Amino acid sequence: MNSPMTSLRIFEIFHSLQGESSRVGLPTVFVRLTGCPLRCGYCDTEYAFHGGSTQTLEEILREVAKYQAHYVCVTGGEPLAQKGCHDLLKALCDAGYDVSLETSGAMDISSVDPRVSVIMDIKTPGSGEESKNLWANIPYLKAKDEVKFVLADRADYDWAKQILDKYALTEKSPVLFSPVYKTLPPADLARWVLEDHLPVRMQLQLHKILWGEKPGV
Ligand code: SF4
Repeated sequence: MNSPMTSLRIFEIFHSLQGESSRVGLPTVFVRLTGCPLRCGYCDTEYAFHGGSTQTLEEILREVAKYQAHYVCVTGGEPLAQKGCHDLLKALCDAGYDVSLETSGAMDISSVDPRVSVIMDIKTPGSGEESKNLWANIPYLKAKDEVKFVLADRADYDWAKQILDKYALTEKSPVLFSPVYKTLPPADLARWVLEDHLPVRMQLQLHKILWGEKPGV
């Protein structure tokens, strides 16, 4: 049962089109939690490391409901860095939403509510945070989860291919390859994926194409 006392530090709650994953383009309510223990070199949500406001589960659910959406994405920062995140995910599922969670891959996903689709990063050497990957998460990936590699260069791409092989990742969950924005030319990544016949989904961040780099989109 969720504790009525559960509260979380929320940076923002907004309605937009999902910009990533297989849910790209779907109208979605985003619940962005404040804070992240990592410092990826390419981070595009540094603004959410601090600030926001403390809200109870009830207040968060009321705000989410205003948008009348089917899909809710809990993101950050790193949402699982807050203890109350599990209660939030459960409460959103109980309320009937189709819930996804975007997580860095550095936090334990084993007790995430099984109704949630987990979009889990694997941090490449180019992120500067490779050492934070929690490899013990891999057995907990479900068929409806997704694994995301954000790639800065060819060395990251080659490293990611090795990880796909080592953990047979494409047999567990769909895999996403995404170029670091304004760093790795998307056409280069597209060509590599085609040349290698990789069973991965290359993706661009729709929200940046539509609205540029800013909070609330
Ligand atoms: S895990 Fe995500 S939010 Fe945290 S520093 Fe890396 S890119 Fe930014």
